[in-house]
Amino acid sequence: MTDNWDLIGHNWAVDMLRQHVANNTQRHAYLITGSRGIGRRTLALAFARALTCVQPPAPGEFCGSCRECRQITAMQHPDLNVIQAEKEGGMLKVEQIRELRKSILLAPYQAKYKVILLLRFQEANPSAANALLKTLEEAPSKVILILTADNTEQLLPTIVSRCEVLRLHPISTPKLETYLHEMGANKKKAQFLSHLSAGRAGYALSLLEDESELELRQEKIHEFKTLLTDTRVKKFAYAEKLAKDKEDFRRTLLIWLSLWRDVMLNVAGDKESIVNIDQYELIERLADQLNLREVKKLLEASEKGIWQLKRNVNARLLAEVILLDWPRLS
Ligand SMILES: [Zn+2]
Repeated sequence: MTDNWDLIGHNWAVDMLRQHVANNTQRHAYLITGSRGIGRRTLALAFARALTCVQPPAPGEFCGSCRECRQITAMQHPDLNVIQAEKEGGMLKVEQIRELRKSILLAPYQAKYKVILLLRFQEANPSAANALLKTLEEAPSKVILILTADNTEQLLPTIVSRCEVLRLHPISTPKLETYLHEMGANKKKAQFLSHLSAGRAGYALSLLEDESELELRQEKIHEFKTLLTDTRVKKFAYAEKLAKDKEDFRRTLLIWLSLWRDVMLNVAGDKESIVNIDQYELIERLADQLNLREVKKLLEASEKGIWQLKRNVNARLLAEVILLDWPRLS
């Protein structure tokens, strides 16, 4: 029944939102959580279409082709307001929420509702979060706010409690594999991407459509392998290079994190859950050399690094400290 909403998985969430629209029982605020690429924004936009479509084929559905539907899909609808940090990993600022508070006081231009999409709200700084709290308390009835975030723990509890929370979970790897195959990926690629994306359909699709992220990953894995045999001097030279571009540094850390996580799974004996299935050999070699405590430390250093990078630490020092702890592959 979820065909019309154009989502793979998350049937329960679609059913719930469809019911809200059909019965006119929608809440003022929703929070959709789940990891990046899982379908948070896709679900939010589908919900926005269901709320604004002028010729729904059935209650709670949307046509996908009327002006409202098309403008929502393109995120160009005059009553759809999309608010997010200027880039992923950036900061959503209080000025953006202040602008929002002014604009929601105006009546919708052409739709029944004003739909406000606040994407990756974990990136909101404390004053923006507090400003939103006021907005949640005062928003007029014609306004529906939809927040997305990685998880509820990253947000103020007072924000979470004012939202209907929908927690999205990854879909099963075989299910995603079948879907990717239907979308044009050959068997091998479908298998690879369903594992690499860990069941996040949106992320898997973006990797299928745009090769550049996979190319970057290849490059970073190559560097990772080299670093494991490099001398201290070479590691420091690499750290210096890495520190020059924080966004590149962040993406590098994400790839390291995913590799160390796989090594940890291997050490713990859970080979089924490994996501970098094209790197078994490397993962096994590292797993042979490390115990659980050691690999956990390496994983946590990358994880902490991603968090520290946002907080104006000395990037070069951070890269050096992380790399110094790496084992030397024999
Ligand atoms: Zn429509």
